[in-house]
Amino acid sequence: MTASLHDLTLLEARELLERRQISSLELTQALLARLEAVEPRVRAYLAVTADLALDMARAADQALAQGKGGPLTGIPAGIKDVICTAGVTTTCGSKILQGFVPPYDATLVARLKAAGMVLLGKHNMDEFAMGSSTENSGFFTTHNPWDLAAIPGGSSGGSAASVAAGSALFAVGTDTGGSIRQPASHCGVVGLKPTYGRVSRFGLVAFASSLDQAGPLTRTVADAAQVLSVIAGHDPADSTSAPREVPDYNAALGRGVKGLKLGVVREFFASGLEPGVEAAVRAALAVLEAQGAELIEVSLPHTDYALPVYYIIAPAEASSNLARYDGVKYGLSLRSPQGDLMDMYLDTRSQGFGPEVIRRIMLGTYALSAGYYEAYYGKAGQVRTLIKQDYLEAFQQVDALLGPVAPTPAFDIGQKVDDPLQMYLSDICTLSVNLAGLPGMSVPCGFAASGRPIGLQIIGPHFAEETLLAVGHAYQQATDHHRQRPPL
Ligand code: GLN
Repeated sequence: MTASLHDLTLLEARELLERRQISSLELTQALLARLEAVEPRVRAYLAVTADLALDMARAADQALAQGKGGPLTGIPAGIKDVICTAGVTTTCGSKILQGFVPPYDATLVARLKAAGMVLLGKHNMDEFAMGSSTENSGFFTTHNPWDLAAIPGGSSGGSAASVAAGSALFAVGTDTGGSIRQPASHCGVVGLKPTYGRVSRFGLVAFASSLDQAGPLTRTVADAAQVLSVIAGHDPADSTSAPREVPDYNAALGRGVKGLKLGVVREFFASGLEPGVEAAVRAALAVLEAQGAELIEVSLPHTDYALPVYYIIAPAEASSNLARYDGVKYGLSLRSPQGDLMDMYLDTRSQGFGPEVIRRIMLGTYALSAGYYEAYYGKAGQVRTLIKQDYLEAFQQVDALLGPVAPTPAFDIGQKVDDPLQMYLSDICTLSVNLAGLPGMSVPCGFAASGRPIGLQIIGPHFAEETLLAVGHAYQQATDHHRQRPPL
């Protein structure tokens, strides 16, 4: 063994555990030591569950000794703080939920635990997953391990930064408009947003219910397949989860790209794309072509509408979902002796929510209000259908689509924080994928001159995660961007 334990991929760690060359306790201790060393600079965690992790590691070692290991037995990981973990704080990065401890596990967490995962803690995020930089966290900003002056992306910024920094071997985040793919791209890791309905949303704190989806952040595509196999599948507790078989994602990895038709989305290479990003993405396309894929230029003509449509639908759903934080049911409750019920609502909500969340609630409430509902929410729903149709037409011609994840590499901390529109534009290449309910993946494809990572986006038809994994894995067989580690 040459590499440090915290540098291993999930599958490498699993092999060493299975061969009993390392114990989960050793591995978990190594990850906790790494976490302690890098956290003061990276700040990826809102809560670290060291004692729990060591207990879980001991239990994993027992299971392994009895030959009863599952697919993730003994593997230390972190979970985005918008996903409920029984007995462990779940704040959604918001002061309004500071100290909130859920009484149950999200279905995906229960599945990870049943598969043997060791929980290291909860990852920082933009408040209620609204943002692209983690600067909207109600607690602190996470730093990009590749360049501490840069944002890690968001909203799953803690998760991406932690996997890149080696303070978790994998993470699970959520993606409503790009929140797994964009931070994965900025931190040089793999991020997979599955098809809407592929992974149960039960126990995910809702942001925009018709868009939210959880998925893995990992170092390799093969690791993502492993995590997805565990968390995917129907859940009777989530009426929008798909009652479909979960295919063998690990087997899909070996399919290769020979004979695949891959669409290059013209609109994703439009103005605003930084030349360094375009060069890295085009070089990745050439690698796939050399491996036998056929590249075909395709157009998604309604792409320009994705941002305005998203910023009606997502805030509308958020304003409704966030109505439950009223000072009565959960978390923060500000009651003054002279105040009445309305004062409690106002004080709790105006002090508990940060400025971006308040902006979204106002936008969403307006879009849903009587007299405006049809003109905004109704119209946005119609355009959403057109966006989805663009994709369905493209998939008549090609097996998957390719493009950048984000128009620029990670920007500097503080650069866009006072300009919401600029911040929203970070997700210009990812939002439409959620509007259409499709699976999308970010795979590291190089570095800008600044040394900051760049991601290739692969988008597939509904429930075609196998194709994304096959394409991404083939690409990683031919390249080594995913083997680079940040100079921390
Ligand atoms: N950045 C987008 C937003 O702020 C997407 C966030 C997400 O995917 N959760 O809404």
